[in-house]
Amino acid sequence: MKSISPWLPVILLTIGVISCSVASTSTTSSTTTFGTDVPDCSSGTITTNIDSNVPAWVQNNFTCVRAFMSGTNIVIETRSLPPYTSYYYGASTSYAARHDTTAPTTPNPNVIATQTVVMTVPSSPAVATSQVSSGLGIVGIAVNGVVLFNDSANPPDNIADELATMDSHGGHPTLGGIYHYHNAASAIYTLSNDTNGVLLGIALDGFPIYGKKNSSGTLVFASGNNWVAANGDTALTTYPHYHAVYNNYLTTSSGTSVELAYLIGDYMAGTKGTVTSN
Ligand SMILES: [Zn+2]
Repeated sequence: MKSISPWLPVILLTIGVISCSVASTSTTSSTTTFGTDVPDCSSGTITTNIDSNVPAWVQNNFTCVRAFMSGTNIVIETRSLPPYTSYYYGASTSYAARHDTTAPTTPNPNVIATQTVVMTVPSSPAVATSQVSSGLGIVGIAVNGVVLFNDSANPPDNIADELATMDSHGGHPTLGGIYHYHNAASAIYTLSNDTNGVLLGIALDGFPIYGKKNSSGTLVFASGNNWVAANGDTALTTYPHYHAVYNNYLTTSSGTSVELAYLIGDYMAGTKGTVTSN
């Protein structure tokens, strides 16, 4: 028997229900082209459908997405179905075969559902004159097609507490079944493999997101923002870009220190594109 309060699971379950109940971000796209050409990697078989005129850094690194150009914008469509087994593929859902019985420390009650995420971003992103709030909901897409959220839980919840709800690959679903990462999840990132910058995803403003180390192999620290100017790190990309920020000063509501290398902070550097989801 574990010597924990009988109420603790209830309290933590409540946190899980309340947090991540945001359906989606913001803005609407006039044309939703989501169709059967959007890969479904839930079986673990990786398929990708990216047009040859999409910028090479996207074409060569992203999987489990449909991507094409629309004028000067890149349109990326994803179901946000993780290409591995997860506790959050429910045991009694249509994805039961992908259910991993190993539960997170304090699982949330949500289950993964297929999404129709359409994100449209500029192919030549520019730094805006003033930073904009990143906001709750989808703020980017990881290289494996899973969507990205920022460094915040739904207020007043504590993102540090939510780490205990992540599955063995570092993600969890919202109430609406949107499976997502907030941080450099183990599914997309390993510190020991990060020698000179590892691409983790694309942000809603069109800029790339890299791992915790810059091209010199130095961990990127910051407080409040993970924006790094291109001229500090041109070896990775000609674009300005984000880094997962190594952050070890978060504490859970019970006072335990945790590390959460978030991917997008409270603000974004460029003008946000559009994203829709069901
Ligand atoms: Zn979350």
